Amino acid sequence: MLIMMSLNSPREHIEKVKEKIRSKNCMPHEIPGSVKLAIGITGPSTKLSEDDFLRLESVDEVVRVSKPYKLVSREMKPDDTIIKFNNASVGGESLTIIAGPCSVENRQQIFDIAGELKEMGIKFLRAGAYKPRSSPYSFQGLKEKGLEYLSEVKNEIGLMIVTEVKDATTLPLISQVADVIQVGARNMQNFSLLEEVGQLPNAILLKRGMSATIEDLLMSAEYILSQGNYNVILCERGIRTFETYTRNTLDLNAVPVIKKNSHLPIIVDPSHGIGIWDKVPAMAMAAIACGADGVMIEVHSNPEQALSDGFQSLTPKNFKMLLNKLEQLAPIVNKKVDIDVAVT
Ligand code: PEP
Ligand code: MN
Repeated sequence: MLIMMSLNSPREHIEKVKEKIRSKNCMPHEIPGSVKLAIGITGPSTKLSEDDFLRLESVDEVVRVSKPYKLVSREMKPDDTIIKFNNASVGGESLTIIAGPCSVENRQQIFDIAGELKEMGIKFLRAGAYKPRSSPYSFQGLKEKGLEYLSEVKNEIGLMIVTEVKDATTLPLISQVADVIQVGARNMQNFSLLEEVGQLPNAILLKRGMSATIEDLLMSAEYILSQGNYNVILCERGIRTFETYTRNTLDLNAVPVIKKNSHLPIIVDPSHGIGIWDKVPAMAMAAIACGADGVMIEVHSNPEQALSDGFQSLTPKNFKMLLNKLEQLAPIVNKKVDIDVAVT
């Protein structure tokens, strides 16, 4: 349920509405919009009656949200969510580029690639320190050491860090370094982890599970928002189908569908989506053409030597070429590639 109030409602009227919601054992969520202020309600809705709210001052209307996901829905918030960082924003007119290797492998490797990406104007560096691998014998990431290197890169090179959380135990450490905490495909429905990240101030990049429907993804995002963290970026990264030529099937259908049904920004990861480096640029372009708010691309200085996902990683040179093409494409979809022009 949504309580719609005028934008200039006095604070005491807003607080009365919120008190009423709490008295019904539900949680109020204040969602300022451009035309109206909405107070979203989550919790056991059976106890709520519209009349309870219509009686209160400054309440214009009470709207039932028809979707099973509430806080993430466009019904709740018609305006696009724009997530603000110190010198970047995700959503709206920004076209966000997140780039970097699959994993942090050693100090030299992460510093080298971070330096090259910084020179291209990239603001967000991706790299996993804790890697969820299908085989227990594969490289599992440098763990704490990897986080330490990421923290050094962040301070010395000046890049924002996107890195994955594998479990709740390491979350406090990760949240100190990460500007954006990635919840990977394998953890998309780890509901207790979603509740934990929902209590943090960090932005969350929530990747679609490999067998998850679009609704599953939105319901998982709802877990995070319901805990009070509204800074969620969704990520389409391909789903499992019967196709075997490609690693996954990049479901670009998800982009316009999610744009219609949710106000959250959505980016696309074509590297995992197709899994073959020379096809990544085509799918990155397609992602932007269909309305994505950005792309996340795996880039490695020496893909052949990479400890994970080398086959789908672009070299810095190939990545630079893709970046140039994305800059040409962006204005056609009314967006602007969000890179640091000063350093390019
Ligand atoms: C990754 O981004 O390197 C990764 C493991 O992604 P996913 O969770 O989409 O497989
Ligand atoms: Mn990877």
